[in-house]
Amino acid sequence: MNLSDLRYLISDMDGVLWRGETAVPHLPTFFQTLDAHHIQFVLATNNASKTPAQYVAKLAKFGIAVQPHQIMTSALATAGYLASHAPHAKIYMVGGDGLREALTAEGLTILPRTERDDTADVVVVGLTAEVTYTDMANATIHIRRGARFIGCNPDATFPSEYGQLPGNGSLLALIQTATSVTPTVIGKPGPIMFHECLRRLGPSATPANTAMLGDRLNTDILGAQGVGLPTILVLSGVDTAVELALSTHQPDFVFNDVAALADAIRNEQGTMNKRPLVNASQ
Ligand SMILES: [Mg+2]
Repeated sequence: MNLSDLRYLISDMDGVLWRGETAVPHLPTFFQTLDAHHIQFVLATNNASKTPAQYVAKLAKFGIAVQPHQIMTSALATAGYLASHAPHAKIYMVGGDGLREALTAEGLTILPRTERDDTADVVVVGLTAEVTYTDMANATIHIRRGARFIGCNPDATFPSEYGQLPGNGSLLALIQTATSVTPTVIGKPGPIMFHECLRRLGPSATPANTAMLGDRLNTDILGAQGVGLPTILVLSGVDTAVELALSTHQPDFVFNDVAALADAIRNEQGTMNKRPLVNASQ
């Protein structure tokens, strides 16, 4: 794909649009460039605990106006997947408001958190800071009785001011150990969330005109390549030029940040050339 062919963008958020509570430089210019070039986008995150409204509010603080339907979380992708594959399932969920709201919006049936007698058809696990041993025990009971096991995302850890803390993948590992059942995982780098994003963008979005933009080689880039999408890596987040040089997952385009990507879109640079455009001094 040539950058001048870009009409649709699936973009990661953390490490691409912001770091913590700070927007990356020239973020409004990036979104203005997408608008000026009629590039439609979905902003996608593996985080299952927040709602689209919370992301809309966060972007508004940075001066960016997006609509809730332009946000895709692994909770929404999970709900979309269940609505099309198991619309009448009784669901036992472990998770926060973001997951509950997403499942409810699709009209799915959620069993009470204390339910042990009525057997669930599906157990869905998304990270919440309020998770308890009883939640884990109930999820185990349902899965051992035959419920399907679905995880919103596979992230083993997530960063905090104290270092890495257990993420949803760690909860999945606990339940997998207790049940010997491997979960179906919806979020990146698996294919399901990418397919939900493409569905959201509409039937005109194809690998000829749609790219994935992210900061992590082993989720954003690897996952997008798995569904045949061209990829754009920015070095403003997790992975640096060092990781890039060592990685077997090479993106189609590399930029220092979205400001540099915006420049390239405006100039229609970075075309056809599969070699990284990065300044190696970073
Ligand atoms: Mg990221």
